[in-house]
Amino acid sequence: MTTRREALATILFGSAASLLLPASAASASHFEVTHTDAEWRKILSPAAYDVMRHQGTEPPWSSPLEYEHRKGTYACAGCDLPLFSSDTKFESGTGWPSFFRPLPHAVETSADNSLFEERTEVHCRRCGGHLGHVFDDGPKPTGLRYCMDGVALKFRAMVSA
Ligand SMILES: [Zn+2]
Repeated sequence: MTTRREALATILFGSAASLLLPASAASASHFEVTHTDAEWRKILSPAAYDVMRHQGTEPPWSSPLEYEHRKGTYACAGCDLPLFSSDTKFESGTGWPSFFRPLPHAVETSADNSLFEERTEVHCRRCGGHLGHVFDDGPKPTGLRYCMDGVALKFRAMVSA
């Protein structure tokens, strides 16, 4: 027979557990794709690992994607999520692949106050991999310049039928 006190304890414990579980799961990572550091080292090239997991920056003019002019899609090197379309790529003259707009629901941004200047960091919304930065000196129609590290992207040319 369940006493009134035991029932109350069950209710309290039950609700506390249901409140705590989602919170702790969310604080671990809100990204859909997660790996341990060792796993990322295996998945990514050394250059991509440095950029994507340690906010590195590839040397300018080092990425073959800077010179890529075919139609296609630029996907995340970490989780394959399509991030940019070739339709939004433009010549920025900076030495990094640049886009004026990401694909819908593809990237997230956060404040980056390193290097003594305020910049806006851009990362993949699915795996959290660092991709580059976004600046407000881009061309029309957005006025934005997504300055991306080529090693963080995988280009897939559109196959024309
Ligand atoms: Zn990703």
